[in-house]
This record gives sequence, C-alpha cells and structure tokens, in this order.
Amino acid sequence: MKIIIAGAGIGGMALAALLRQRGVTAEIYERAPNFDHSGYMLGLYPIGARVLHGLGLMDDFLATSERMDIYTVRNGHGQEIHTYELGRMLDSFGYSGGIMRGELLALLRRRCEDVPLHFGTSVTGFEEAGDTVEVKLSDGSTNSCDLLVGADGIHSAIRRQLAGALPDHETGWGCWVWVVRNTRRPPTAVVEHWGAGRFLGLYPVKGGLGVVAAAPTRVMGPSVVGEDGRKVKTHFAALGDGVADVLAALPDDLGSTFWWQLSDVRSESWHRGRVALLGDAACAFLPTAGVGASIALESAAVLNDELSRTDARFLPSALARYEMRRKPRAEAFQDDSRKLASMMMIESVELSWGRDQLMRFYTLDMLAKTIAQSLAKPI
Ligand SMILES: Cc1cc2nc3c(=O)[nH]c(=O)nc-3n(C[C@H](O)[C@H](O)[C@H](O)COP(=O)(O)OP(=O)(O)OC[C@H]3O[C@@H](n4cnc5c(N)ncnc54)[C@H](O)[C@@H]3O)c2cc1C
Repeated sequence: MKIIIAGAGIGGMALAALLRQRGVTAEIYERAPNFDHSGYMLGLYPIGARVLHGLGLMDDFLATSERMDIYTVRNGHGQEIHTYELGRMLDSFGYSGGIMRGELLALLRRRCEDVPLHFGTSVTGFEEAGDTVEVKLSDGSTNSCDLLVGADGIHSAIRRQLAGALPDHETGWGCWVWVVRNTRRPPTAVVEHWGAGRFLGLYPVKGGLGVVAAAPTRVMGPSVVGEDGRKVKTHFAALGDGVADVLAALPDDLGSTFWWQLSDVRSESWHRGRVALLGDAACAFLPTAGVGASIALESAAVLNDELSRTDARFLPSALARYEMRRKPRAEAFQDDSRKLASMMMIESVELSWGRDQLMRFYTLDMLAKTIAQSLAKPI
C-alpha cells in the first residue's frame, strides 16, 4: 500500500514511525525547510506518551523531557489559589512529561530515518481517480498513492478540500511563547497565573520552562505591539513580582518569538474515499488542556492499527472505522480544552475574582474531566 503523509508534525511523524515499525514505508511532504527550529513546548500525558513506549522511545523520551509533578494555579496578584498533585493522578497510567516540539520530532524521526521526507514542499491539493489519489505538490509536480493522510495541522489544506472551508472557533485571545533557561524555579512544577485580561503559564521542559503569555489579541497581538517585547513585559508585569524573572527572559525585540492565535477547528468528516485527516487537521486544540499532541499520537496509533488489518482494496472502510474510533474521543477533549479556555481567559476583574473563588473548590477531575476519565479507557 503506498501512503503519502502531508505534514511532518507530531501526528504525521508518529504515523510514519509506526508504519515503519511494521515494514511500511510512507512518503512525507513537509512545508517547513527543516526541523531546526525547536518551536514550543508540549506536555504529553500518558495517553500520548505510551505511543512512544510502543515505538521503543520511552527511554529517549525520559532523557529529553521533564516530569510534570505539581500544578499550581495563582490569581492575578500571584497568590496561590489551588495546588494539584498532577503526578499522582497520572502516575498509575504511565509516564508524562514536557518536551520541546523539535525534540519530539527528532525522536520520532529516529524510528523512520530511511523514510523519504521532503522538506520545503507543501501538499496543495489532491484528485481522486478510481482507487488512486493524485497528490499535488507546491513545486508543481504530482505523486500518486493509495492513501493520502492530511496531517498538515490546524490550517490543513487537505481538510479544506475534503470538508470545505470551516469557521475557526475563536477565543479572541492569542499568546506569546518563549523558554526560560537556567531558572531556579522547581523544574517539575506547572504554574499558571490566571489574571484579568492576562494569563501566564510555566511548563517544565528539560533544562528550563516553557512560557505561554496569553492576552486578548486586540491588546497584545503583533499588530498592536509590533516587535516591541517591552510592551508585552509591561502588560504581564501586572501579575506581580513573581513573574519578573520569566519576563526578563523575553527578548525586547520579538522578531523570532512565537505568537499563536488561540483558535481551534473541528471537521465533521475525518475521511473521504482514500483520504484521511490526522491530528489538528481533523480536530485542532487550544493549548489550554495540553492535550493536542497526545491526541495526535493516539490517533496515529489507531490509524496505523486499522491500516494493519486491511489492504488497499478495503481502505475506505478502514478509514471509516478509524474515524468512528477517534472522533468522539478527540471532540470530548476539544470540549474540555474550550471549557478550560473560558475559565482561564477572562477580561473582567469581577468575573475573574468570582472564578478564583470557585477554583478553590475545583478538583483536578472537575478541571480536566475528560483527561482524568480517558486515562482508564481503551482506544
Ligand atoms: C503554544 C502551544 C502550546 C501547546 N501545548 C501543548 C501541550 O502542552 N500539549 C499538547 O498535547 N499539545 C499542545 N499544543 C497543541 C499541539 O501542538 C498540537 O495539537 C499538535 O502539534 C498537533 O499535531 P499535528 O501533527 O496535527 O500538527 P502539527 O504538529 O502542527 O504539524 C503539522 C505539520 O504540517 C506542516 N504543514 C502545514 N501545511 C502543510 C502542507 N500543506 N503540506 C505539507 N506540510 C504542511 C506544518 O509545517 C507542520 O509541521 C500546543 C500548541 C501550541 C500552539
């Protein structure tokens, strides 16, 4: 069976590695010129990390990630509202940890080193002709296959062709993302500052902490602050002296600092004929529940499982089963991350005060209901 994967992100690379494990060599096209930019940090829950286990990558994952042990929520003045024992909830199900996206991609590449990966080439569309899919590439050429997997992320070109233009679910907020190295802060603690009109989260990675500083786009977006990091620092300095060291690590010139618009999208259909969607292309995630990469890994494992039980002739029905197994679970997680976003991203001082009072009584299970329940469920 000839398989083409659009996108060498978490889902695409995981699928390529899983296929390679059972002797199937896919071909991957990736828009980016290389993996050199490490990108942002990803927290993996056991639901995603155990796919790495299956690939024999667990030791490497442990060596390149940092454990997430404690989760503390602080209010807009830096005072602690609630501390949760995250490690205790996750530990009986498997490993979890924070890792830089680039490191995770490098790990996955180790398990499919000989798989053709064409950097700097986008998949622009496809045409279905009988049992063949003709894949169109940005260099003007085409390549044909039995199965095209659209793992091309939140703004997927494959999804656009498969399901039409879909409206993004917009939060109206976005975030600046950077990393603090050589910090004296506890290495395994997730800390979030929930202020009014500002949110700042700190997430463990090896040798440092990933920072997500979120605010309404009309207040902190690139079109407002330009490249002036000092404006961002001033806005988040209102969270108190407790974040001063973190803000000091943000460059005054935002040139290469990531800005993410906090939106997601959900596709009604995950496949058509011999074309399937994987990861954010099918169901994208706000980073609020920290679960998008885990879901992409899990979906890659299920897709690989379904593909292992069929040949090219019966692909459409295998893809239908893949969608049935994945869509409800992914959408439940997406609902969770949207709910969390509405709690974390509040502009009004009064409402955020009320939220803080409520948070004192919120258990971890209530906060991340689907994650807590899903850990025990089969996929
Ligand atoms: C700031 C931030 C923090 C996050 N934190 C977490 C977290 O802690 N935990 C977690 O689980 N998730 C987190 N997420 C979400 C997570 O990153 C995504 O859900 C996950 O990466 C989805 O994997 P994917 O393979 O579907 O997409 P991606 O990893 O985005 O990969 C898509 C790939 O496709 C490529 N591409 C795009 N278009 C084309 C094309 N037409 N042709 C070829 N290639 C193309 C892109 O260059 C990219 O490499 C976070 C996201 C952000 C933005």
